Amino acid sequence: MPTLLRRCYSSRPVVDRAVTIEGQEAHHLLHVLRVQTGDSLTVFDGSGQEFQCEVAECRRAEVVLEVLSLDEVNRELPFLLELGVAMPKGDRSRWLVEKCVELGVSRLVPLSTKFWDVKAKRDSHKKLHRYVIEASKQCGRNQLMEIENLTSFEVWIQSSQEEKTTQLIAHPGGELIENAIVVQGGPIRLTIGPEGGFSEAEIEIAQRSGWRVVDLGPRILRVETAALKLISAITG
Ligand code: SAH
Repeated sequence: MPTLLRRCYSSRPVVDRAVTIEGQEAHHLLHVLRVQTGDSLTVFDGSGQEFQCEVAECRRAEVVLEVLSLDEVNRELPFLLELGVAMPKGDRSRWLVEKCVELGVSRLVPLSTKFWDVKAKRDSHKKLHRYVIEASKQCGRNQLMEIENLTSFEVWIQSSQEEKTTQLIAHPGGELIENAIVVQGGPIRLTIGPEGGFSEAEIEIAQRSGWRVVDLGPRILRVETAALKLISAITG
């Protein structure tokens, strides 16, 4: 089996020659991958490193692994990429989180905005974090994309400290994304609105805080499609 499919996440930092995997990850190893003593697999703990391991012992609900070697494998983007987004509902939020992990987003900040439906039932932070782990196992990322707690639009828009930051907010009628200027090497922050879009007042606040308004083309995209298009446009 290709090693990327045999990846396992350890919520505890791997510091010793052995690591014990418990909970959902152990269940996956025991009952889905059906690992056995002597099998090899790759473990990551979110620190950026990955560990080549061998199964030392399969217990009822735990798997003990022997750590054979450590590799520093960098599959991150060469710049910080943060996405502020008014999260969509249901399965679409899972899809969005997955794709953000695959495309290398460093930090996802769920936003509450004027036209975002605060009452809609949404996945908990814990669930979103779980999606991050699953996607990281699949795509080989060794650093976990951070997910912030719900943040107000104004706080997010005004929170940049760094001078070299590129800040783009997607809103129909802005400058074409193809023409947007990205400061090379600096952090990039992107913002996507809810299904109801941004209010004119929100766009004004963003512009006053140094954000460029970008247009993603002639069709109105759903939140998750817009996020992907914007991320892909600036990461290339
Ligand atoms: N009804 C809203 C559209 C909401 S789409 C309106 O007309 O403004 C959800 C979000 O995706 C938007 O807030 C925006 O951030 C982004 N988006 C979707 N299509 C876009 C486009 N063609 N250009 C720029 N942003 C877009």
